[in-house]
Amino acid sequence: MTPAQRVSLDLERALGPSRVLTDPDLCAAYARDESEAPSVVPPCVVRAETAADVAATLRACDERGVPVVPRGAGTGRTGGATVTVPSVVLDTSRLDGLKDIDRANGVAVVGAGMRTGALHAAVEREGLFYPPDPQSAEWCCLGGNVAENAGGPRAVKYGVTRDWVLGLECAHMDGALVQHGRRTAKGVTGYDTVGLLVGSEGTLGVFTEVTVRLTALPTAVRGVLAVFADAVAAGRAVAALLATGARPRCIELLDAICCDVMRADDPGVLPEGAGAALVIELDGFDEAAVAREAARAGECCVAAGAVSAHEAVDPAERAALWAVRRVMSRALRRRAAHKLSEDVVVPRAQVAELIARVQVIAAQERVVMPTYGHAGDGNLHVNLLWDRDDERPRVHRAIERLIEATLDLRGTLSGEHGIGVLKAPYLAWEQGPELIALQRRVKLAFDPKGLLNPGKIFSDTTSHRGC
Ligand SMILES: Cc1cc2nc3c(=O)[nH]c(=O)nc-3n(C[C@H](O)[C@H](O)[C@H](O)COP(=O)(O)OP(=O)(O)OC[C@H]3O[C@@H](n4cnc5c(N)ncnc54)[C@H](O)[C@@H]3O)c2cc1C
Repeated sequence: MTPAQRVSLDLERALGPSRVLTDPDLCAAYARDESEAPSVVPPCVVRAETAADVAATLRACDERGVPVVPRGAGTGRTGGATVTVPSVVLDTSRLDGLKDIDRANGVAVVGAGMRTGALHAAVEREGLFYPPDPQSAEWCCLGGNVAENAGGPRAVKYGVTRDWVLGLECAHMDGALVQHGRRTAKGVTGYDTVGLLVGSEGTLGVFTEVTVRLTALPTAVRGVLAVFADAVAAGRAVAALLATGARPRCIELLDAICCDVMRADDPGVLPEGAGAALVIELDGFDEAAVAREAARAGECCVAAGAVSAHEAVDPAERAALWAVRRVMSRALRRRAAHKLSEDVVVPRAQVAELIARVQVIAAQERVVMPTYGHAGDGNLHVNLLWDRDDERPRVHRAIERLIEATLDLRGTLSGEHGIGVLKAPYLAWEQGPELIALQRRVKLAFDPKGLLNPGKIFSDTTSHRGC
């Protein structure tokens, strides 16, 4: 009997057979996330229903020396929840539910499996606001958001998941269930272990409960749709707009292919032939002030070269635009047999320069590279689409050149999708050996046997394994 088979039997006995899957056909659904990272079918999946199930699974895997891969909804883009060596998958998506909304203190406590969109809806019914809004909010889980430090369009004004997490209940490899952080607005007691765990990509511990900060739901929201002749001009307008001191809650950029994809889903959302677009949103509590800011944002875009700037006052119009924006990634995937999505970030003022360099790389390597993203943060999702196997070397070169360009512009490999397995070979391109060695020692302190989500973030391979 293999160690994985032994641990499956241990877990069936401890948790009951309904929470443990070993049928390969059922386990196959848990092999990978939404990336194209290569995977193997896990020999066992635990569908945890309580924090105690999570802790017991980690302890059993530690005792038997079996790797374990934490999982939320599997919407990750870098292979973070992908099974690369035979492992137990620990599904936390059933640790669902809103445990508490503390209106007076602006705090919510949720199970790590709660869907982000469900949290949005629940707090908004109370006039409260949880701003982080990954475009996968309808499907992804809070635990996955914490593990990836998820962002989204609203990060330009409100920040990312890390800015909103106060406390975590986290199970560790020895089976301990530890309360990290606090419920208060301020607190500097001991090391900031919450800050360390946020963005740890399932390599340090497994979250069972998340305590988040809330704010008041803005009552006034206005949108501006600015259309440009090309994406470089749109990138320049982002810098110009931010230089005025404007604080939009979203500045999303779409290049020509992405505009076309959105129009294919809903022709009404963008004018035909748009070379690029910026979707800008402003919010606040004073309707007239927000209206003035929206008008100024439109004027600024026109002054910076927009062909047109249209104010989207009607909530239905904004909703239609966001509906197709949310499914952009999946719509692009339908355009080719293979798709990889990079998630680079450059200083905001360098967005236009990065787009210009992407255009050169795409032309020289003959790879289709549609680009969209949270341009207000300098965070662009540069996609690579290809159909045939003989195109892979060119895709590989295009990815390496994109990363070189990003680092040359003083940027970073990932804004919100994490390193996972796909970007692990490039970590050393950005970070020095001392920093990587220090992080490996931190990993060992949490997981001495190296069994928790192995092969993620840190890699000994030099090749991008997605192509
Ligand atoms: C259409 C689409 C749009 C997207 N848009 C955005 C966007 O705008 N912004 C953004 O940031 N991301 C976006 N993403 C990426 C993805 O949705 C996020 O990374 C999300 O946070 C992943 O959550 P998940 O529950 O699916 O996690 P999974 O994919 O299941 O796991 C992601 C990582 O978290 C770890 N993990 C999961 N649950 C736990 C837990 N309970 N404890 C510890 N570790 C855990 C896993 O091991 C893995 O490393 C998008 C994805 C899709 C498919």
